[in-house]
Amino acid sequence: MNPDRHTTFYEVWDALGTPGDCGLCVLHRRRAHQFVANLFYENVNHPGLRAHWHESLGFGDEGRTIAAAEQDALGLSILYASLAHDLVQRLNHPPPKLHPARPGPLETVMRKTDARYLDEFARHYGAADVQARHAAGFGLCLAHLDAVLRLLPDPALRMRLCEAERTLIARLQSELQLFADKSSYDSGQPFGPEADAWQRALRKFRRPESP
Ligand SMILES: [Zn+2]
Repeated sequence: MNPDRHTTFYEVWDALGTPGDCGLCVLHRRRAHQFVANLFYENVNHPGLRAHWHESLGFGDEGRTIAAAEQDALGLSILYASLAHDLVQRLNHPPPKLHPARPGPLETVMRKTDARYLDEFARHYGAADVQARHAAGFGLCLAHLDAVLRLLPDPALRMRLCEAERTLIARLQSELQLFADKSSYDSGQPFGPEADAWQRALRKFRRPESP
């Protein structure tokens, strides 16, 4: 057993085997959902967290999407009643402060979580079995590929990762083209594994943030 491989490594290792999705995105979503669920079930009345909630004016886009899916009506009612009260006070004093004073609780936690998983992948990418597992799967989305390339200090490793991703993207391109060809009016050919290539493309081409 490799003494340098711990829980975080095996989380990344397992996630890299996710069919049709970027392992680092999978880990991000899992942790973000856990955080929001935990926020509702245990921390709604935590004073420090409540202060943070107000300073950040509640959830950002990701938090709202997850909260809508979690459907914790009571937790959301408590948190947003408190925020609504705060906003009524702010609107009593025009011009009101309607910008968050700091990133929200979810963004703060996820920034650290993302950095930890990215660093773990980059730190172990030199190992042949990690390279093979990455190349045999979906690979990384563009945003995570860009982030990992910035973390890899060795040019040979950066080239290796780019080559592996180029192969994966070229394969996806072929599947997309095949789907488009079969979908044409005169084809009549049954669809194969390329049937969901467009869904995988939506996950693969998650682009990095604009500078
Ligand atoms: Zn990703």
